[in-house]
Amino acid sequence: MSKGWTKFPNYLIDGLAALKAGELKVLLWLLRSSYHNRSYLSQAKIAEKIRKDRRSVSRAISSLKEKGIVQAYRYKGKNSFYLVRMEPCAEGGGKEEMGNRFPQGRERLGFASCPKCSFSAPISNFTYLAHSKDGTKEFLSCPSCQTRFWILTGRQGLEEK
Ligand SMILES: [Zn+2]
Repeated sequence: MSKGWTKFPNYLIDGLAALKAGELKVLLWLLRSSYHNRSYLSQAKIAEKIRKDRRSVSRAISSLKEKGIVQAYRYKGKNSFYLVRMEPCAEGGGKEEMGNRFPQGRERLGFASCPKCSFSAPISNFTYLAHSKDGTKEFLSCPSCQTRFWILTGRQGLEEK
């Protein structure tokens, strides 16, 4: 974890009234510990950092997941990482609907390319929007032209909890 500063999404500040103090503390630590949008911090470690018990942290994370702010991923049955959305959950509609509405991009060996402007970079450089349950379809937002698209990733065993 680097020293310095932490990027905090404005939509969360705009919606601060809807967050409990514990949820905010957990969020701050998830963001603080995120690298390329992923936090591998354990619930036990978060609990230690904010001096709460593990169950409070677990409850806060569940609530943040229900609010669509945090996504938890598992790999081979174990907790893998948390992801804090950098922008609000896609406007209405389910994930399948998103799949129909947005174009498909290409993914190859961890690199994704935007279907509109062909911007190409490692997947982690794109903003995540959502992740389908089977862990094979990911929604990305192009940092170059802001087009939203989805890709089929080859990463097996990655699943949203
Ligand atoms: Zn683009």
